[in-house]
Amino acid sequence: MAAQLVYVVGGGPAGLFAARLLRRAHPGWEVRLFERLPPDDTFGFGVGLTGGTLRSVREADPEVCADLVDAAFRFSTAEFRLPQGVAEIPGFHSGVAIGRARLLRILLARAEAAGVKVETGPAPAVAELSGEASLVIAADGVSSGVRQHYAAELGARTELSRGLFFWCGSEVPLAGTVFMPVATEHGTFVAHAYPYAPGRSTFVIEASQQAVRRMGSADRDGGESDEAALDYLSAAFGELLGGGSFLGNRSRWTRFRTVRCARWRHGNVVLIGDAAATAHPTIGSGTKLALESAIALAAALADDDGVRADGLARYEQVRRPAVERLQAVAHRSRLWWESFPARLQLSPARLAAAFLTRTGTVSLNDLTVSAPGLARRAAADFARDLGGDLSGGLEEPPEGDLTEWILRRPLAAGGRAFPQRLVAGGSATAGGSSGALVSLPASLDDAWGPAADRLVARAARHAGRGATVIRLTGGPSVHDLRDRLALGERLRTELNVLVQVDAAAAQLPEAAGGLVAGRADLVGVPELLPDPAAAP
Ligand SMILES: Cc1cc2nc3c(=O)[nH]c(=O)nc-3n(C[C@H](O)[C@H](O)[C@H](O)COP(=O)(O)OP(=O)(O)OC[C@H]3O[C@@H](n4cnc5c(N)ncnc54)[C@H](O)[C@@H]3O)c2cc1C
Repeated sequence: MAAQLVYVVGGGPAGLFAARLLRRAHPGWEVRLFERLPPDDTFGFGVGLTGGTLRSVREADPEVCADLVDAAFRFSTAEFRLPQGVAEIPGFHSGVAIGRARLLRILLARAEAAGVKVETGPAPAVAELSGEASLVIAADGVSSGVRQHYAAELGARTELSRGLFFWCGSEVPLAGTVFMPVATEHGTFVAHAYPYAPGRSTFVIEASQQAVRRMGSADRDGGESDEAALDYLSAAFGELLGGGSFLGNRSRWTRFRTVRCARWRHGNVVLIGDAAATAHPTIGSGTKLALESAIALAAALADDDGVRADGLARYEQVRRPAVERLQAVAHRSRLWWESFPARLQLSPARLAAAFLTRTGTVSLNDLTVSAPGLARRAAADFARDLGGDLSGGLEEPPEGDLTEWILRRPLAAGGRAFPQRLVAGGSATAGGSSGALVSLPASLDDAWGPAADRLVARAARHAGRGATVIRLTGGPSVHDLRDRLALGERLRTELNVLVQVDAAAAQLPEAAGGLVAGRADLVGVPELLPDPAAAP
């Protein structure tokens, strides 16, 4: 086997860790990495790491894991700070964060210690590199020049978010994660913040394009910090900052780019990290994806004494399903946060439950185990809102599974009364009232996209002609149900109608969670559950 030469383009977490792991596994290989920025001149503040990611790093590289654990900043609380009150979110975050600059210093030192040759400056053109090397690893981030060069061969696609985000820092010592919306005369700005070092916190602030335009700023895809926006946001979040101000580091309004590639390989060039696939920052998984992709690539090449095409194929085959799953979760999370201001009328507990269940990876019943107080408070608030005649005193939610209790709550709204939220699939009148029901088939994976706009306009026309219940029907999978629930929430908040979402009997726990989260008023099933009063 001829001597192996590996070029790595980009010294972010993906490139540095892949370079280190490959060189450690194959001391005979020459591994050369290009990073255009000098060490310590990176962008950004803190990044979050999950317990799962640290475990994967430990398995692949105990030394790097020990460095990360030493440098990581730990915290254990998370809360929503809302105008209507505070909701704590127990057990939400693994509570491990690290400054991006610190993370890169660790990975750089470990890569060099393993024998990786690091060159500061832009990498030569990829065609030149691939002609010389056995393998070129493109780890050049979300704007990857390598991906753009081979865009057609890789089937690369980029989707821009509707909302904008702004990444900045502060010297405010937050105790834990804080989610906080602030309404100004220009719109709603929502902070996602967490500490990452003593006396240092990282903030991602989200806003709509309209709000950013109205405040006099605009999105930019490069350049220095937007100082006017930093001043504006410092004033808007003055209470949270205790009079301090935000710190910028190439901080500006940006539309997030979701990158997807049909293939991650072309010849001897392979993509990893953000170059291959990105996930919206509201699931805090960019660094996780980068490190875990590096691990997967090194593992796929571990047993071969040279770089072989089947090794690269193995990497993609093993890694792609997990990445695509995370991207699907990130898609739902992005849509939820982009529409966040529309659900500010929910009680703090209901909003926190809606947040935790927004992607479907956590259900309300999961919360009855991980955060039972929050789950029961959210269910009780739901029962009080539009709950009909409760003069007999409100029955408290039970301990444990809440599905049945939620579905049995009454509803009185818009001149309609239902003894319970569960109705026969075909007709909301089975719940016991009169009025028009209109069924709309809804198979849309973006409840705020143009196809959904048309469906909302149709529903509005029906409401104008007297429909009081809009019933959403569609596919049988749980993903279809989640799509209907997302659309149901939009219909409820934008139109003065009740929304019935159809679900299969096995999906009732998820549908009940949707009721508490404000995504539907009624749940339709093909067959009603037996009446508990009639049970022996
Ligand atoms: C607002 C925001 C918040 C985030 N929050 C989190 C979080 O909480 N948790 C988390 O895990 N992740 C978070 N991330 C994501 C995380 O920062 C990235 O996903 C992660 O760094 C990706 O790693 P990477 O190595 O693939 O790419 P990058 O970290 O982007 O590294 C790419 C590197 O390539 C270099 N480069 C590019 N082109 C060339 C070239 N031609 N020659 C030489 N060098 C080149 C760049 O300088 C850069 O250093 C967030 C991202 C954003 C935008």
